Amino acid sequence: MARIVIIGGVAAGAKAAMTARRRNPGLEIVVIQEDAELAYSACGIPYHLAQPETIPRARLIARTADELAREGIVVRARVRAEAIELGARAVFVRDLEHGRTGVEPFDRLLLATGAAPIAPPYWIDAAGPPVVTLRRLADIDRCRPPDTGSVVVVGGGPIGVEAAEAYRSLGCRVTLVERLPRLFASLPDSIGDAVQAELERHGIRIITDSSVARTVRTGVELESGETIPASLVLQAAGIRPRTELAEAAGIRIGTTGAIAVDRRQRTSAVGVYAAGDCAESRHRLTDRPVWLPLGDVANRQGRVAGENLAGGDAEFPGVLGTMIVSVFGLAMARTGLTAIEADRAGFEPIGVEVTAPSRARYMPGAEPIRLCLVADRPSRRVLGAAAVGRDGIGRTIDILATAIWAGLTVDDVAELDLAYAPPYSPVFAVPQVAAELLRPKPRLAPSGG
Ligand SMILES: Cc1cc2nc3c(=O)[nH]c(=O)nc-3n(C[C@H](O)[C@H](O)[C@H](O)COP(=O)(O)OP(=O)(O)OC[C@H]3O[C@@H](n4cnc5c(N)ncnc54)[C@H](O)[C@@H]3O)c2cc1C
Repeated sequence: MARIVIIGGVAAGAKAAMTARRRNPGLEIVVIQEDAELAYSACGIPYHLAQPETIPRARLIARTADELAREGIVVRARVRAEAIELGARAVFVRDLEHGRTGVEPFDRLLLATGAAPIAPPYWIDAAGPPVVTLRRLADIDRCRPPDTGSVVVVGGGPIGVEAAEAYRSLGCRVTLVERLPRLFASLPDSIGDAVQAELERHGIRIITDSSVARTVRTGVELESGETIPASLVLQAAGIRPRTELAEAAGIRIGTTGAIAVDRRQRTSAVGVYAAGDCAESRHRLTDRPVWLPLGDVANRQGRVAGENLAGGDAEFPGVLGTMIVSVFGLAMARTGLTAIEADRAGFEPIGVEVTAPSRARYMPGAEPIRLCLVADRPSRRVLGAAAVGRDGIGRTIDILATAIWAGLTVDDVAELDLAYAPPYSPVFAVPQVAAELLRPKPRLAPSGG
C-alpha cells in the first residue's frame, strides 16, 4: 500500500488528502500540520474577526482532524516537518507539544506549506503596541483589539483593507498606512481611488506614500515623523511562499520565488508534488510562471495534486489572477492582465474605461459599475478587466474571466447571449458596453468623391 505524506493541511493539503482518499481508498495518507486546526477557510478570518457571533470560528472549519480520521486520513496536528530526506524518502518531524522527534516515511510527498507574512522591516518597541499578522486561524486571538481603541493597519492590499473594515466595524479608530502612492496601485487609478474613498467615507484614515519607521510606546512613528496612536498594529504588507523545506531538500524554486511545478503539480524531485500558496502557477495568457496566492487556486491545485498522488494523471490548466475584494459593500475585482502587464507580455493592448448601470437604470438597486477593459489590438482577444461598484461586480468580472479563459474577442463578448431582466441587468451588460467600444467601427466612405 503506497504511503502519501502531505505537509500542510489548510486549503491545498486538505483538498489533496480528500481527493486522493476518494480516488484510492487503499492509500495510507498522513497530513502533517503545525497548527491544531486544519481544513479551514483563511479567507473567512476577517469576517469572523468582525462578526464573531454571526460567523463563529468553528464555522470556518470545513473538516476537523476527527472527521478526516473517519475518512481514514491520519492527521499529525501540532507537528512540524523539519527536513525532507529525498534519498531516504522520509520527512523528519517534531511534535510541538512534547518536543519529540520522529520520521514519516513516504512513497509520494505533497508540499502544501502555504505562505507566511513578511516580517515587519521596522524597529519594534517592546513597550509599544503588539504587532500582529493575520494569516492562520491561530492568529485570530492576538488580532482582536484589546478595547475599542486605535488600530494601525500597515499595508493596503486585500487583507489590509478587509481587516481595516473589520476593526472599524468593531468601533476602533483605524489608520491604514500604504507605502505606495495609492491602494491597489497595479490597477487603474480609478479603482484604487474608489476603494480609498469608500474606506474614508467610513471614517478610516488612509495615509499613502508613507512607511512606518518604528513602533513607539504609544503607537507607530512614520518616516515623515508623525506619530499615530495605536493599541494594536496589524502588519499586512505582503506574504512570501514557504519554501524553506523544499529549498533545503534541493527542490527547484522558480523565478517567482515559489516552488516550481509542472502542469501535474510535480516538483523537480521524483514523487514530490507542491500545491497552493507555496507553489507557482502558469498564467494562461502569457504562459509564464506566476505566483498568485489565492484560496481558489490552492483548492484547484490541491485537487490536481490529490488525483496525481493517488496515481492519476490530472493537469492544472493555469490561472488568470481572477479575484474580488469587498470593502464596506463596495466590490473591487480583476481578471487577466492590466494594460501595462499586457504590454510587458508582448501584446499590443488597447483599453477603455466605462461607467454603466448594474441593472436597468430605473430599477431600485441599480448602481454604477466602473469597468476597465483591455484587449489585444491585432487579435481583438480580451486580455483583462478590472471593475469597481456596489452591485453586479462578481457577474461582470466572471463574464470576462470566462471570456478570457475561452479566448473570446471583444466582438464575441459584445454579442454574447446573456440573461436579461430589469432587476438583474441592463439590456446590454456592462462587459458588452465596454467590448462594443473596443470594436473597430466601419469607416464611412468619404462623401463628395
Ligand atoms: C485573512 C486572509 C483572507 C484571505 N481572503 C481570500 C479571499 O477572499 N479569496 C482568496 O482567493 N484568497 C484569500 N486568501 C488567501 C487564501 O486563504 C490562501 O490562498 C490559502 O489559504 C492558501 O492555502 P494553502 O493550503 O496553500 O496554504 P496555507 O493556508 O498557508 O496553509 C499552509 C499550512 O501549512 C502549515 N505548514 C507550513 N509549513 C509547515 C511545516 N513545515 N510543518 C507543518 N505544517 C506546516 C502552515 O502552518 C499552514 O497551516 C486570504 C488569506 C488570508 C490570510
